[in-house]
Amino acid sequence: MIRFEQVTKTYPGGFSALKNLNFSIDTGEMVFLAGHSGAGKSTVLKLICGIEKPTSGNVWLNTQSLGKLTDNQLSYMRQHIGIVFQDHKILFDRNVLQNVLLPLLIIGFDKKEAEKRALAAIEKVGLYGKEKMMPVSLSGGEQQRLCIARAVVHRPGLLIADEPSANLDRAYALDIMELFKSFHQVGVTVVISAHDETLMADYGHRILRLQEGQLKG
Ligand code: ADP
Repeated sequence: MIRFEQVTKTYPGGFSALKNLNFSIDTGEMVFLAGHSGAGKSTVLKLICGIEKPTSGNVWLNTQSLGKLTDNQLSYMRQHIGIVFQDHKILFDRNVLQNVLLPLLIIGFDKKEAEKRALAAIEKVGLYGKEKMMPVSLSGGEQQRLCIARAVVHRPGLLIADEPSANLDRAYALDIMELFKSFHQVGVTVVISAHDETLMADYGHRILRLQEGQLKG
């Protein structure tokens, strides 16, 4: 489903965040991306969803080389990806339900169908009964669940999460990992980055380890 072919990413200013990276991820796989802060994990995830473009090499998603897509094609492609990034972008002036509804309304869903799906996503992430609450009254772990509900509400085939458990206590972090696992179990391809490898150890999934922009081991 995802293939990196000799991918180098050099940011303006000349810093090479990724150097000749090669790997692939199959449809339905759950893969962890590990590595120290600054190793290039976020850059890999941004390249997968076309937020950044490679300086050289190709990033393939299914049969498409992302570097060749127009902005419109990239936005269409992103409608099939669920993205949980670190800067949440939760809308704090809207309640939980309104936050989860928004992506569906943007892609033109009928309000009633959107609401049905949003409530199902809210229930799935364990926030049932909190749909009228404002995000500020949710705990950190619940806010992360809200982000996940919003990322999966359009039922993407690919779910990407950048350090989803970074600011959570270990128990909450493990809960969040279980939630991602449950999406993997119903066939979603899942790619999660984390700098704490102990969170990944028990799952038996493949771990891609990045060090200074290259895969090690
Ligand atoms: P990680 O997610 O593993 O912490 P990143 O992919 O965020 O790593 O960053 C890898 C390297 O690229 C870091 O040294 C970072 O400072 C640099 N970098 C990331 N984004 C940018 C950017 N937009 N402009 C310049 N340098 C960047």
